[in-house]
Parts: sequence; C-alpha cells; structure tokens
Amino acid sequence: MNNGKKIIEVKNLKKQYGDFHAVKGIDFEVYEGEIFGLLGPNGAGKTTTLEIMETLRDKTSGAVLVNGFDVDKHQQEIKQIIGVQLQAAGYYPGLTLLELLSLFSGLYNRDIDKMEMLGRVGLQDKARAKHKELSGGQKQRFSIATTLINDPKIVFLDEPTTGLDPQARRNLWDLIRAIQAQGKTVVITTHYMDEAENLCDRVGVMESGKIIAMDTPDKLIDNLVAKGFERKKEVKKANLEDVFLSLTGKEWRDD
Ligand code: ATP
Repeated sequence: MNNGKKIIEVKNLKKQYGDFHAVKGIDFEVYEGEIFGLLGPNGAGKTTTLEIMETLRDKTSGAVLVNGFDVDKHQQEIKQIIGVQLQAAGYYPGLTLLELLSLFSGLYNRDIDKMEMLGRVGLQDKARAKHKELSGGQKQRFSIATTLINDPKIVFLDEPTTGLDPQARRNLWDLIRAIQAQGKTVVITTHYMDEAENLCDRVGVMESGKIIAMDTPDKLIDNLVAKGFERKKEVKKANLEDVFLSLTGKEWRDD
C-alpha cells in the first residue's frame, strides 16, 4: 500500500520513432510503496514508457521525475535507486548463479550475501547451476534477484511472468509482494489481467500510446458494473486454473 507520497511523476510524455507516435502524451504518478501496473495489449507503448522511466530510452518530450530526479539531467542518481531486469541475453549462460551474482554485485560495487539473495527467490539449490541450465521460471526468479542487488527503492519489471506456468506465475506474484513488503515500490508491465487484478494496487491501462483508464483494479471493475455490465456466463466458484493448481500443487518446483 502506498503512503501518499509520489515517487514517480510522468507529465505529457511523448515518444516518437521517426513518424510513428508510440506514446502520445501520457500523465500518471506512482506512489511510494505501491505495486503499479501498466497494462495493455502488445504494442501499446508499455515497454517504451518503462524504459524512459529507467533512463534506458530517450523521450521525445514531456517530463519524467523519478524520486524527484529528472530523467534528462540525473540519470546516474536514478540508476542508483532503481532495479532493472536485464534481457535474458545479458546473462553469461556458462556462469553459475553465484558467479553471476559476484559479477553483478561487483558492477554495482555492493557487497551482498549471495546465498541469502538466492534464498529470497527460492534458488539456493541452484547456486552452482549454470544460468543456461535453469528453467523459464527459475530464470525469471533469478533476474528478479539481480534487480535487488543495489537495494533499490523502485523495482521495474517488464512482463515478469510471460510464458510461465500457473505455479511459477503465482510464485512470482508472492515474490513481488515480498519485495513490496520490504518497503519498495514496484512498477510492472503486463498484458495478463488476472495478474494485474491480483497484484497491482493501481493500474494504468494503455492503448495505442494513450492511457485510457487509471485506478485501482477494484474501482475499475466497480465502474464497469455500475454501467450495467454483466458477464454472459454464470461465474463458477472455481476455474480451470484452480483445478490445475489443486491437481499439481502450488509449491516451488522445477518450473
Ligand atoms: P509489448 O507488449 O508487445 O512489449 P509494448 O506495449 O511494450 O508492447 P512497446 O514495445 O513500447 O509496446 O512498443 C510500442 C510501439 O512502438 C510498437 O508499435 C513498436 O513497434 C514501436 N517501437 C518500439 N520500439 C521501437 C523502435 N526502437 N523503433 C521503432 N519503433 C519502435
């Protein structure tokens, strides 16, 4: 839950790639301590927006402040207080998880307890496994561990559960909630609405470079219901995913 203090402010943000307007003047705020989700279909502009906040991409116009720092002027200060996932290609496949954590903590100039870090994401057993030997879910968990090395105030996660099975997804949700419980702010992108509903305190819905709705998931649903919307099919007390999880269990496994 947030404490009412703005930690990210985005004002009239625009991004053009040549003639193409990928982000068309969006405004939003992220509050300290919340899990904020940018939702939307493929190509809506979520990753572009996220990478501008991360100082990894230049904007065309508008203003973005991260913890009071301007993305145009204070990139170094911002990098020190944010955690960003590397693309999978950024991990040397032949190094073990311990070796990779040594490498990254060296880059950040941070002394970390590597086994404790792996424990936080349920990968202690894999400490001496090579990165290429991990499953999809394990790779995602490891990449989340790497975002925590510099003890960031804000963690950015771009589609953290894409391609994972239901157990692995729920385990990652627990992990993201645990990160929030440590007092960090989390910004995620997703196109899974169940993920946003379960995880996010507030969401911004993006489409074609615009934010078309912004609120808590509960409020957005209540607003739709208030307009008279009803689901066509009677809602059962469980769905097929619940059946799958009850058959196969929820514990961390070799996902
Ligand atoms: P996805 O869910 O597919 O990742 P997204 O919402 O994250 O989508 P973006 O990756 O931000 O969307 O892309 C928004 C639009 O901008 C897309 O139409 C994309 O093709 C275009 N785009 C993104 N990066 C570039 C680039 N470097 N050069 C040109 N066009 C780009």
